[in-house]
Amino acid sequence: MSLDLERELRDRGAVLSGHFRLSSGRHSDRFIQKFRILEDPKLVEPVARAIARAFADARPTVVLSAAVGGIVLGYEVARALNVKGIFAEKEAGVPVLRRGFHLDADDRVLVVEDVITTGGSVREVIGIARAAGATVIGVGAIVRRGEADFGVPTVALLEMPIVSYDEGECPQCERGAPIDDPGSRRR
Ligand SMILES: [Zn+2]
Repeated sequence: MSLDLERELRDRGAVLSGHFRLSSGRHSDRFIQKFRILEDPKLVEPVARAIARAFADARPTVVLSAAVGGIVLGYEVARALNVKGIFAEKEAGVPVLRRGFHLDADDRVLVVEDVITTGGSVREVIGIARAAGATVIGVGAIVRRGEADFGVPTVALLEMPIVSYDEGECPQCERGAPIDDPGSRRR
């Protein structure tokens, strides 16, 4: 891909610097605001094509992603592969297929995720595919922030290892810096 993805992300404000509390509870000085990527079809399209290319030889029959961010990316990857794109969403805290989506035992599933951090949601989605008897042929992502290993071929377009701290040993907390809320940021 001729795209300089890291630079695109920075230019769009998708990579924020500050003092953030991650969903894990740990603190970090960087945060990826993934909707600065997903909101722009001009970026999502080449990103999705690159993910699709990485798995075309494995002949996926369906792309499966997790709501909400995964819907946009999964759809574009499915388009590039000319297969169906479906998504899982949470029901009482458990990800399930709704809306009549289903997988067959002969499906070859490509799992797509926007940003992989701990990999928890990817593991849940893999579980849905396997529970249906389908084969998971791989996991494709835009950014991987950790070492998550799913036991299937995994491709991330950008490796951006996360540096995080327990609250008690966070250097920014030590300096008394307030926590930033990326959701309230205007940029
Ligand atoms: Zn802190």
